[in-house]
Amino acid sequence: MTEQADSEKTAVDGLPPLRAVIERHGLATKKALGQNFLLDLNLTGRIARAAGDLSGRTVIEVGPGPGGLTRALLMHGAAKVVVIERDARCLPALDEIAAHYPGRLEIVEGDALKADFAALAGGERVRIVANLPYNVGTQLLVGWLETAAWPPFYESLTLMFQREVAERIVAAPGDSAYGRLGVLAGWRTTARIQFDVPAQAFWPPPKVTSSVVHLTPREEPLQVDARRLSLITQHAFGQRRKMLRQSLKPLGGQALLDAAGIDGARRAETLSIEEFCRLANASV
Ligand code: SAM
Repeated sequence: MTEQADSEKTAVDGLPPLRAVIERHGLATKKALGQNFLLDLNLTGRIARAAGDLSGRTVIEVGPGPGGLTRALLMHGAAKVVVIERDARCLPALDEIAAHYPGRLEIVEGDALKADFAALAGGERVRIVANLPYNVGTQLLVGWLETAAWPPFYESLTLMFQREVAERIVAAPGDSAYGRLGVLAGWRTTARIQFDVPAQAFWPPPKVTSSVVHLTPREEPLQVDARRLSLITQHAFGQRRKMLRQSLKPLGGQALLDAAGIDGARRAETLSIEEFCRLANASV
């Protein structure tokens, strides 16, 4: 099929196919912005469904790009979608979606790393759904997990990561992927991998497989200061082959381990989340 014929067609939602949108707006992808676009509305629909029933809900999406996932979220009934995109070239394409769904799409131009997500949520308990730029995805997730107010301003996170990062998020003690991310995610949420997305589903295809992870906040996670827990896990896993009395030396070493009732000869990967919380609470 020629590109001209493609651009004359409409997709299932009545908007032009994504390839035509990208061509018309000259959205050549930029690696520095982690731009790997999803062009298949069936697949973006599957991600939207992984976020649960969206009817009546407000969704925040980070990095809408040309709007493939945004369109799926709107098509699947989200009452409102708030998108934050750093690349101003994408805004005209997003404006077209907003015109197609009057009053339901709010477009924010900016850097998600500097955004106040609770303020963007506007008092609603939102769902966050995103095909995250790979270079800032982990940082954004950690920020959401370390949110001070709990239960947080979001009722779920449905996020695309590289498979290897997804495995770290859902890892349990003893798993080779268990580390700081697994402790933080497991402490405050229940997290699971929903499905994998092959590299060929993206334009351009990344080098690795991706996975959609769904995280739901725990109502009553163990009481601990998030930043202290982060610090403990950073040190403990920073030298994961060493015994804890060694890796935690800068934070108190054996004395800290004694205060938490944990054997200093153990290694980080054997500690449960509850034991990490005990260590964090002992590290005043
Ligand atoms: N959601 C689209 C999709 O699924 O096809 C695009 C996903 S692409 C992996 C990541 C998007 O995040 C790009 O549109 C990129 O411009 C945007 N982005 C990158 N860094 C960002 C940041 N710091 N804040 C907001 N958006 C960002």
